[in-house]
Amino acid sequence: MSSIKSSKNTGKKVKIAGAGPSGLTAAIILAKAGYEVHVYEARESVGARFIGDFQVLENSSGHPDPIEMLQKIGIAINFFVRPASSATLFDHRLRPKTVSSSVPFAYFIQRGRREAFTGATRVSLDEGLLQQALDMGVSIYYQTRIKPNEADIIATGPAAADGLAKEMTFLTDLPDTVWVLFDMKYAPGGYVYLFVLDGVATFGCAITHNLSDINRYFDAALKRVQEIRPFSIQEGKTGYSFMDFRLKSSATDNQRLYVGEAGGFQDYLFGLGLRYAFMTGYFAATSLISGKKYDTLWKEGFGPSQEMSLVNRSLYEWGGNWGLSAFVQQAQKKDFKEYLTSWQTKSPWKMALLPIIKWAWQGNQSCRHVFPVHWCRKRRQQVSGKN
Ligand SMILES: Cc1cc2nc3c(=O)[nH]c(=O)nc-3n(C[C@H](O)[C@H](O)[C@H](O)COP(=O)(O)OP(=O)(O)OC[C@H]3O[C@@H](n4cnc5c(N)ncnc54)[C@H](O)[C@@H]3O)c2cc1C
Repeated sequence: MSSIKSSKNTGKKVKIAGAGPSGLTAAIILAKAGYEVHVYEARESVGARFIGDFQVLENSSGHPDPIEMLQKIGIAINFFVRPASSATLFDHRLRPKTVSSSVPFAYFIQRGRREAFTGATRVSLDEGLLQQALDMGVSIYYQTRIKPNEADIIATGPAAADGLAKEMTFLTDLPDTVWVLFDMKYAPGGYVYLFVLDGVATFGCAITHNLSDINRYFDAALKRVQEIRPFSIQEGKTGYSFMDFRLKSSATDNQRLYVGEAGGFQDYLFGLGLRYAFMTGYFAATSLISGKKYDTLWKEGFGPSQEMSLVNRSLYEWGGNWGLSAFVQQAQKKDFKEYLTSWQTKSPWKMALLPIIKWAWQGNQSCRHVFPVHWCRKRRQQVSGKN
C-alpha cells in the first residue's frame, strides 16, 4: 500500500513503548501532526496478547458512539466491526432474558493477528491500527523493549492482575449468539460469555477472585453453558489475559504519559478498556502537540466515569447472585443501551458511596486481605499466567 505520510514535519521525535490500541492511537495522531514516531513492541507482532477473540466497543457508557468518536479523533474504521443490538443474559438459575436496544449497545471487533485466528477472514482491530500507523510513516520495532525512562508514552498494557480471563476461540455449529452468564459460582466477581458470529466463536470466563483457579472455573463454566444448548467445538485455541483496574490521581510520571491499561484505564465494572485506550492515546498525543496537561485532559474527559465504574464494581460484588439476577431481570424490561447507560450516570447516592469505596480500595496502599479482596495487589503473586 502506498504511504500517505503527513506532509507536515515538526522535526520532533516521540518514542512509544507498546503497540496496542492506546500506543498505536497516539502514534497515528502524532504522525499525522508531523512528528517522527517510533513504537517499540515487546512481542513479535501487534495483538499477540490475543487469540482472534471477539471483543466489544461499548456504546453504553454515556459517551459518544465509539465509531463516531474514533473517526472524530482521526482513526479510520479499516477493521471488522459488527453492531450488537440484542443479547441473551442468564442468571445463576440459567433463566434466559433477551435484551435489546434501538441503537447498538456495542460493536464487535476482533483482536490479534490473523495468522493466529481460528476461521480468519476479518481484519482485526490491531491489524487495522497497524496499517494506519505504517501508512503515516510510523516506525515499529518488534521484539524490542525500551527502558520506561526512555519512552515519552508508556502503552505497555496491564501491569497488575486485578482480573484474569481465560478465553477460547473455535469454530462451531451454533448460529449467531451473544450470551452472557452472571453467576458468582462459575465466574467470581466476573462473568462468562459466548459470542458467535458467522460460525466463529469466542468463549470466555473472566474472574476477579481466586485467580489461580482460572482453569477450574473455565472448564466448569464451559460445561454450564453447554447445558443451555450443546454445541460443537472445532479448532479450539485458548489464551489467558490480565486486566488492570487501578484508580489513580495521576497518569504522568516524570513527563512520561501512561495510556490505556498501562495507566490502569478501564471500565472497572465489566473490564472494558478499549474506549479508554483510544481516548488516553488521543489525550496523550494532544498533550504533546498542544502542551496541555495530560492529567487534566483525561480527568475532564472521563474522570467521573472511572469513579462511577468503581462504585458499580463494588455493587456488582456486594450484590452477589441475588443482585445479578435482579440486574438481568431489570435489563429485559428496558432498552438495554439506556439501561446500561443509567448505571454509568452519576447519582447522589453513588457519589455518597464513592469516598468509602475509594478508602476501602486504596487501603492506605497496604494490603489488608479484607474487603474488597479482589483489589488486593498481592494477588499478583498467586498467578502464574502471563501478561
Ligand atoms: C480477555 C479479555 C477480553 C477483553 N474484552 C474487552 C472488550 O470486549 N471490550 C473492551 O473495551 N475491552 C476489553 N478488554 C480490555 C482491552 O483488551 C484492553 O483494555 C486494551 O487492549 C488495552 O489496550 P492497551 O493498548 O492499553 O494495551 P494492550 O492491548 O495490552 O497492548 C499493550 C502492548 O504493549 C506490549 N508491551 C508490553 N510490555 C512492553 C514493553 N515493556 N515494551 C514494549 N512493548 C510492551 C504488549 O505486547 C502489547 O502489544 C478485554 C481484555 C481481556 C484480557
